[in-house]
Amino acid sequence: MPKRRLSKRQAWRIEKIQQARNARAQKREARLDEVTDDQLGPEQMGLVVAHYGTQVAVERWPCVADSQVQRCHFRTNLGSLVTGDRVSWRSGNPYGVVVAVHARLSQLSRPDPYGELKTIAANIDRILIVIAPVPKPHTQLVDRYLVAAENLGITPSLIINKMDLVNATNKALIDDFVRLYNQLGYEVLTVSTRYSSEDFVSLKTFLASHTSIFVGQSGVGKSSLINQLIPDLNLQVGALSETRQTGTHTTTTAQLFHFPDGGQLVDSPGIRELGLWHMRAEDIVYGFPEFRPFIGQCKFRDCQHRQEPGCAIRQAYKNGQISEYRMASFESLRSQIEDAGSRN
Ligand code: GDP
Ligand code: ZN
Repeated sequence: MPKRRLSKRQAWRIEKIQQARNARAQKREARLDEVTDDQLGPEQMGLVVAHYGTQVAVERWPCVADSQVQRCHFRTNLGSLVTGDRVSWRSGNPYGVVVAVHARLSQLSRPDPYGELKTIAANIDRILIVIAPVPKPHTQLVDRYLVAAENLGITPSLIINKMDLVNATNKALIDDFVRLYNQLGYEVLTVSTRYSSEDFVSLKTFLASHTSIFVGQSGVGKSSLINQLIPDLNLQVGALSETRQTGTHTTTTAQLFHFPDGGQLVDSPGIRELGLWHMRAEDIVYGFPEFRPFIGQCKFRDCQHRQEPGCAIRQAYKNGQISEYRMASFESLRSQIEDAGSRN
């Protein structure tokens, strides 16, 4: 994404923030130097469960029941640590120290207000896109979340919540969703937080031994689902996300929670809106897995898959290998991104 031109005042502010940050980092490093080896416990594996600016909260990994969380310092040469990072650390009083960060299997990054990509969580391996009969779901919105997940290289699945609200009017629509996304190879689970059913048990099993995030439109029941899965959490139900309320960027950082029946959840109001983050035009084609066999097969190397002769993607669509709704969804997403680009 192109960097925005900064006004003098903005540049001055950023410079000030940077200076303060450096001063804090130096202070922290000086404190770390004062800690001697014999004040620290043995090196062990850990998991970052939250981030507090200059410190991280770390738990033992693999998790043990009632694991204690300890705040830890880390040296700046470790780079930026984020929630979900696997680390080597040593406990200490009052603070432990992170000594190494393990390679990430995946990372979620989003542009900060200055257009720089910032990593906000690591090692997520499931993205659960939540929809419901109410508010009425749209394939294009679901596809937008799917494109975001595909580009992160993290397996997306769909949860249809509020199944208790399925009636004669919306049943066909919900059945269509299940069929359409199953056909594309995505797992679709159906649940309701209003009754405990076997479906909910399937969801718990599905979440075990994975690190998941819940994403989706406001009002589909993400907070309600999370509260049902982790009763101690007490997320506010029916609350508007901070982003929408204030129109500014969400500041709450990601936190990691354990599902009592196994598996982890990483959550923050910002993460729940993943699909609405900025996307690049070139990410869109890749985000439609059924288009991939045809990428690179078009007659023109710079084919835009519009009306060009010899377009392999258009041909696949004509042959019925790409469905009408997905083609329409691809075009709609592309024009949304073009519109956003021309506004900047
Ligand atoms: P979020 O914005 O996605 O986090 O959604 P919330 O969890 O805040 O829920 C939005 C509304 O849907 C609330 O009024 C919930 O009580 C309601 N809700 C959540 N799950 C269900 C469900 O399974 N069935 C019904 N009927 N309503 C639900
Ligand atoms: Zn083409």
